[in-house]
Amino acid sequence: MNTNVKNIEISGIRKFYNKVIQVPDAISLTLGQPDFKAPLVVKNAMIKALEENKTVYTPNAGIPELRKEISKYLESMSINFSPDEVCVTVGGSEGLYATFQAILNPKDVILVPNPAYPAYKAIGALIGATVIEYNLDDKFSIDLDDLKNKIKEFKPKAMVLSYPSNPTGAVMEKALKEKLYSLLKDESLYIISDEIYASLSYEEEYYSLCQYEDLINRCIYVSGFSKMFSLTGLRIGYICAKDHILKEIMKVHQYNVSCAPSIAQYGAYEGLKNAMEDAESMKKEFILRRDYVYNYLIKLGFKSDKPKGAFYIFPDISTFQQNSEIFCNNMLNSAKVACVPGSAFGSRGENHIRISYCCSMKQLNESLENIEKWLYV
Ligand code: PMP
Repeated sequence: MNTNVKNIEISGIRKFYNKVIQVPDAISLTLGQPDFKAPLVVKNAMIKALEENKTVYTPNAGIPELRKEISKYLESMSINFSPDEVCVTVGGSEGLYATFQAILNPKDVILVPNPAYPAYKAIGALIGATVIEYNLDDKFSIDLDDLKNKIKEFKPKAMVLSYPSNPTGAVMEKALKEKLYSLLKDESLYIISDEIYASLSYEEEYYSLCQYEDLINRCIYVSGFSKMFSLTGLRIGYICAKDHILKEIMKVHQYNVSCAPSIAQYGAYEGLKNAMEDAESMKKEFILRRDYVYNYLIKLGFKSDKPKGAFYIFPDISTFQQNSEIFCNNMLNSAKVACVPGSAFGSRGENHIRISYCCSMKQLNESLENIEKWLYV
């Protein structure tokens, strides 16, 4: 077996999920899977595509109409990639993998945030790159001194930015964007910006480093429709980058998957054209749930910032004097509520738990009441 493969472990999220299924009456707040049904127009578009026998390969980069719509959608967030600079992928996951594979030679250094979505570290390790973590600060913004020192010391080929963030729910703030720009504008590293939760940013303005025209030649924008239209099982995402980068990524994509699933591409296209209101109402519902969970947790003595995006809250559990794995195990067995230990997202996730609030208000209410009884009765 390949040494890199043998040396990595399955994701801590999945590992914990496997424990959860052994407690059948537990409510699981572990997975990043919205509970909403896919928008009707998206489903109908896919049925129509099937009936029209659009079950064949598409161009490697995806159907032209979808690439055009993605380009238009990004323009609404002041991110400029032409349709030719878009490649439709098998979820954001394949987008990340193809990007890492295309950019990094074995031993090249890639900087990833700590805490972060575990795939960055795992993919880096799988392809033999050297993964160095940069620290997020107490507000889950970036510790810029640490980042600066690590760029100086390790001369990374690339770095990953991940906002809105899984697991913290933080978003890229204007001030952070400007400071990062000053720090990165004279460097030469590639910036892989995973913005899969962009449609779930609860702030008025949306900020991304890909909005800087003088950085865009080094940016790879990774996103997808799993979260936006609640389409996790359809495996549909995309990467955007300028031609000199995308043409290399496309080789990995082509030999790996040929193209993204055709039917899902027609669904995503229809979604961008006619289901933006559905995406907006999902966002509104998530805001209500976020407020409810946040207020309840504060009442229970957890420390937390109010998340500004995605559908996770990452409260500090240090008051309860148990590490995150023990806390989650106890909570699962006693309160019958499952959350992911913060340590699954990196060392700086310790003393936190990730609660995913993409389930019904009823389930959220029941789980928070159970947690309350477990902690205080
Ligand atoms: N990036 C982040 C930060 C994620 O949380 C996820 C899924 N949980 C992905 C990428 C990949 O999503 P998908 O492959 O479903 O598009």
